Amino acid sequence: MINTKRQAIALLSDHADPAAVVGTEEAGGQNVYVRQVGENLAALGWQVDMFTRKANPEDPTIVQHSPYCRTIRLKAGPETFIPRDRLFDHMPEFVKSFCDFQTQQAYSYPLIHTNYWLSAWIGLQLQQKTGIQLIHTYHSLGVVKYDSVTKPKIAHTRLATEKAILERSSCVVATSPQEKEILKTRVSSKGQIEVIPCGTDTSNFCAIPKVSAREKLGWFPQEKIVLYVGRFDPRKGIETLVQACASLKNQGCDKLKLVIVGGSLTDRIDGQERQRIEQIVQDLGLDEITVFTGQVGHDLLPLYYSAADVCVVPSHYEPFGLVAIEAMACGTPVIASNVGGLRFTVLPEETGLLVPPRDVDAFAGAIHRVIQDEVWAKKLRKQASASVNQRFTWNSVAIKLSHLYRYTLARTIMHEQPWNPPQTSPLWTPVGEEVKRVAV
Ligand code: UDP
Repeated sequence: MINTKRQAIALLSDHADPAAVVGTEEAGGQNVYVRQVGENLAALGWQVDMFTRKANPEDPTIVQHSPYCRTIRLKAGPETFIPRDRLFDHMPEFVKSFCDFQTQQAYSYPLIHTNYWLSAWIGLQLQQKTGIQLIHTYHSLGVVKYDSVTKPKIAHTRLATEKAILERSSCVVATSPQEKEILKTRVSSKGQIEVIPCGTDTSNFCAIPKVSAREKLGWFPQEKIVLYVGRFDPRKGIETLVQACASLKNQGCDKLKLVIVGGSLTDRIDGQERQRIEQIVQDLGLDEITVFTGQVGHDLLPLYYSAADVCVVPSHYEPFGLVAIEAMACGTPVIASNVGGLRFTVLPEETGLLVPPRDVDAFAGAIHRVIQDEVWAKKLRKQASASVNQRFTWNSVAIKLSHLYRYTLARTIMHEQPWNPPQTSPLWTPVGEEVKRVAV
């Protein structure tokens, strides 16, 4: 039930279940973001209800994370895993389930924070019928993503929705100044944008002495450990890292060890990409120096980060990249592609290095620089954890979001309608597209 003593708000996260195990399939940064934001907002005095799609009949419908923060799984299509690029058809049912839930609870959320474009679509549907305030975080932007992949059929709807939410929400949250710039120049010049970065749990992600971390993991002190952490997805660029390690080995780099964390062995995208990467490792003769650990939880990840000499984030495109700040929080220098949010989080020569995406020689050169110069690496380690502690804690993210919500709700109560969303037929309905309307 809704706690009437607290202001209740809804976070929508269509596919990324805040209660899911992170690191496999499509469970990654967005799941962590919604869960952390939710829990930290609850600690600040809000009642937070996080809504996601039920993807497994065995999952409980409601998961209570803390007295004032819960995940609610709604019916939206069959209760089975569906990749996010095939979820749109089930979103009208999500809207209906959300409205039914509100009716059962006899409560309508005055403010909804949507995450990812599918939730934005749901939010826009709800906004048409009721005067709710919308706040939105993109997590991934179609306009950038489609620069590097073939546009799917749904692209037109996604791009139109991403433009509409910018123009019609109370405010969108960009997680880096780079994202704000892209929104203004490539999505729409209209709309309110606040830069509020993602965060990390610095009480969990903090430095453990390298020697003891290695001892616990059974890794030798003299090894040069290069770490990857994340989902298996072609856009993560794991292939570039593997090739860079092969190049280093061929140049005679001694005692190199590549540790790849994350992924599953399913026959879905995640498992397929893992098999492809394993094959490349084999073809390049790196089997003996490469370890695939599979998914590792946040409880153990600090050990992996702390034990590594360097963490590499070779993504072709990365909206923010939680892994980079988790690694730096543990005092591990990061070598990352010079793209997206990584350009904001990784400070070149201070907390790591930025190199052009897909550039095998540049990655090899940067890894070599860090693992060969222990004095410099030590300096980077210190600066990396200090930088994250100053700039990227979940608590500071929640405080900024909390201010934004309060400001937005206060303006609503005063009937000022500051950002004046158009009430006419929505600009974002793509002509001739099969966008479905539902009665709410
Ligand atoms: N992750 C994890 N276990 C794994 C692999 C990844 O918990 O085995 C987590 C990682 O710690 C991070 C998230 O998954 O919190 C990945 O977020 P990021 O923003 O780096 O990438 P995304 O998955 O959103 O593309």
